[in-house]
Amino acid sequence: RFLPDRENLKVAVIGFGYVGSCIAATLADRGFDVVGVDTDPRLIDELQAGHCRFHEHGLPEMIFRGMAAGRLRVTTDAAETAGADVVLITVGTPIRDDGSLADDQLRAACQGLSRHIRRGQLVVLKSTVPPGTTRDVVLPLLESGGLTGGVDFGLAFTPERLAEGTALHELRTFPIVAGGLGEDSARDAAAFWRRALEVQVIPLDSLESAEIVKLADNWWIDLNIALANELAKFCALYGVDVLDVISAANTIPKGKGKVNILLPSVGVGGSCLTKDPWMVWRSARRRGVDILTASAGREVNAGMPEYTAELILKELARAGKDPASSKVAVLGLAFKNNTGDLRATPTVGVVTALRRAGVDVRIFDPLVDPVRAEDLFGTKPAETLAEATRGADCVALLALHREFQDIDFSMLPVADTCLVLDGRAYYSKEKIDELRRLGYRYRGIGRGDSL
Ligand code: NAD
Repeated sequence: RFLPDRENLKVAVIGFGYVGSCIAATLADRGFDVVGVDTDPRLIDELQAGHCRFHEHGLPEMIFRGMAAGRLRVTTDAAETAGADVVLITVGTPIRDDGSLADDQLRAACQGLSRHIRRGQLVVLKSTVPPGTTRDVVLPLLESGGLTGGVDFGLAFTPERLAEGTALHELRTFPIVAGGLGEDSARDAAAFWRRALEVQVIPLDSLESAEIVKLADNWWIDLNIALANELAKFCALYGVDVLDVISAANTIPKGKGKVNILLPSVGVGGSCLTKDPWMVWRSARRRGVDILTASAGREVNAGMPEYTAELILKELARAGKDPASSKVAVLGLAFKNNTGDLRATPTVGVVTALRRAGVDVRIFDPLVDPVRAEDLFGTKPAETLAEATRGADCVALLALHREFQDIDFSMLPVADTCLVLDGRAYYSKEKIDELRRLGYRYRGIGRGDSL
């Protein structure tokens, strides 16, 4: 009913950010006729001039291949959605300080769309939202154009579950969860994704259940990392390596799956894990219920940058170095491996705490935009690894991009007895032995010594 039976479906993607660009490029690569609509004229100009600001493995090539083939266009003109059979909404959905949804991007996108929406179109929201948002915010705004949802146009919620750094692969392999406004919308949204990506689709019987699945994904990840982080602190009290404990604990079956404790780290960042558990907490609080695991996970993980900085400071002191005359090279500024995304990155907290103690901090990340990094960290990033690490008393690896995987530590121009701070439990025991043989000291979160 809301999905024409012809080949060459036309798709509009509203919001050409990290998620929208990955989806639009993938669909164009699969032969669909795609238009990406974004209100940021600089972003559109950059793309038209052949520059892609997103450092996602394979994405720039895919975008420009689609544009060159004429299957992908980008524009600021919302009227271009009118020609589409399927309209995907992938705008940002940040939260305010109190955990409530800052829905201005979503409202503006829906208002814009309501002026062009036409009979037979299928609208699919992919942005992460608190339960009830598709029905209570998106639907009335779309209907303000005079058409009725579920009757004249289809409306579905199919959350985006990809993670940056591995986004294009995950888009093509992860199952898609689909909830719709009525049976026709749900069925057609499921059929669209099966056709579009040939992935498994899991139909759910309401918009709200699909909205909650996405929140459950990130609530679980954040809480699981919080468990790993507190386990790391606990192991450190006993001089035990948390990685030994996690890999042994993860060997038994539990319920229908297996114990699956994730890894400790310098903290959790990015635009999703840092906000989605608060969406859960806030949605429940408004109904008078406290969801303690959501807020506890957030608080544990938000404390990790400070803990990491303390590890560094403690180790500098142990080596008889005064923080006020020490240099720390922070490698990897992005919130995780293999992305240039600086949103809510935990490295800011580490750098701030080190500077507070008087440390001279150098920063380096080949994936991040240097102008944005300078704005955020208040210092120009080094241009090379050698520049960043010259005379360093500590090399703090906080995101291990592919570019850092083969660092030749024997060649770094660091100070004597330099500390390698492993911010995400990257290094194996063999690698740690090798670092020690080269004259480095090593500390990792939960990798042996307590604070
Ligand atoms: P983003 O900020 O990178 O992109 C949002 C884009 O929407 C921006 O380019 C912005 O200019 C554009 N925009 C804002 N208002 C608009 C409007 N009215 N019309 C057209 N364009 C408009 O955000 P993102 O990281 O791509 O996230 C998008 C959504 O997907 C969010 O809900 C997020 O929670 C969710 N999500 C993100 C990820 C991730 O890894 N980044 C993963 C899964 C889900």
